[in-house]
Amino acid sequence: MKTFPADKLARPGRKEEGKTAWRPRPCPVCGAMSVKNDHPFCSRRCAGLDLGRWLNGAYSIPGPATSQKSENE
Ligand SMILES: [Zn+2]
Repeated sequence: MKTFPADKLARPGRKEEGKTAWRPRPCPVCGAMSVKNDHPFCSRRCAGLDLGRWLNGAYSIPGPATSQKSENE
């Protein structure tokens, strides 16, 4: 008699595969693995830093965003 193995129907850790699945990604600010609460950032601090960069319009400009000195010359 054949029966369906229950553990094949419900795979542990993969039951939410798809749009609702969350997986750690490198934080766009510091590169550390993100956490679910602050996805896609590793922490609330990085989320705030990233938001600040957007607000300052300096997101795509590499370098310290908190420094006020200009190094154009
Ligand atoms: Zn981070």
